[in-house]
Amino acid sequence: MTVSWSEPGIPDVTAFLGDAAASPLWIWDTRTGHLQQAWHGDHFSSYVCGITPYDATHLGHARTYLTFDLMHRLARAAGLSVHYTQNVTDVDDPLLDRAARTGRPWQQLAGEQTELFRQDMAYLGAIPPTTYQSVTEHLVPIARQVARLLTSGYAYLLPVGRDAADVYLDSGKAALSSEVWDALDLVPDSRAEARAEFAEHGGDPERPGKRHPLDALLWRGRREGEPWWRCDGLPDGRPGWHIECAVIAHDAHALPYDVQGGGADLAFPHHAYSSAHAVALYQHPIARVFSHVGLVSLNGAKMSKSLGNLVFVRSWRDRGIDPSAVRLAIFSHHYREAWEWKDGMLTAAAQRLLQWRRAAQRGGGSSRGSAIGRAYAIRFRDELHRDLNTAAAWAIADEWSREDDPGQGFPEVVDALTGVHI
Ligand SMILES: [Zn+2]
Repeated sequence: MTVSWSEPGIPDVTAFLGDAAASPLWIWDTRTGHLQQAWHGDHFSSYVCGITPYDATHLGHARTYLTFDLMHRLARAAGLSVHYTQNVTDVDDPLLDRAARTGRPWQQLAGEQTELFRQDMAYLGAIPPTTYQSVTEHLVPIARQVARLLTSGYAYLLPVGRDAADVYLDSGKAALSSEVWDALDLVPDSRAEARAEFAEHGGDPERPGKRHPLDALLWRGRREGEPWWRCDGLPDGRPGWHIECAVIAHDAHALPYDVQGGGADLAFPHHAYSSAHAVALYQHPIARVFSHVGLVSLNGAKMSKSLGNLVFVRSWRDRGIDPSAVRLAIFSHHYREAWEWKDGMLTAAAQRLLQWRRAAQRGGGSSRGSAIGRAYAIRFRDELHRDLNTAAAWAIADEWSREDDPGQGFPEVVDALTGVHI
């Protein structure tokens, strides 16, 4: 298993908050279009798709991983055990393209970028994954599952030239099709729209020889200048993107997880296909609830690699920006909302934080003590339990900060639940 990063210090507020069962965490499920309870019982499991390490760690990444960090913090504060799995897609087309364009070995680029991501996550105070697994480390188990799909007739070979072949999932296979298309319920409604989105996100609906346009690549056969591995029962090659998450998820924790998460652009095809693969292999989708974080634009333009307008966590770290101000700024908007990052947001967040910190210094002097702090804390927690309503939670913290006597205990709850140190 890849080394993750250090655990942040988190105050234990479980006893202070009391019985969390009275306040379940509700999360919007993209697949069903309804709010669902994030957990049942005393355990919470999540699979959050990790980075492809070539452009770590930009604002969109930070927003995504901090959003799921909120869920993990809420689960812990409710007294639950948490298993959190994250992968690293350390061999894939965008990484190989970037390595080739910059004339560097892809392994070196992946290693450096993964290390940068770890440092950025530690700076942001994100709880590290329980299982942090890269594709190259898990290559043999992934290959074994692709071979199993071939043997069982759920996958087929598509030749590439004379001595190589790709492997595709046969999504139209009779025994599979209903479950696969159910898992693909994360797909845009019409098949034509699905084809267009599939093509936009690395799919190849028009490729000649495929049995169905939406069949997804499981294993990419050996190509000139690309890395490949020799594994039993398969042509030389490397894993596709969706199968990696299906196998890593399954091998780290029982399926289905409570939640699978990622940026909104992962809902289709990636999450749909990963679950379709998991259903084909293990008879379960990856998760019960599929949760997606909205995209952030910058000063009026969509933030993208091609436009070169990414905001990097590293730049905040280098400038000595307080990570609590970063969290405060990012969580000023609901996680599902698409919004625009503006340069002044960190300054505004730092001022708000200062107001909260001044209130914390006034707190603790009165006999009302923890009662008033607890009352605010419960309201604050309950807003977060309503589909992570951070903007409303921040408004409660503002209200608390205007109290003549802000009492005790509230700052620790804000820290434990949201990672903002007051
Ligand atoms: Zn994934």
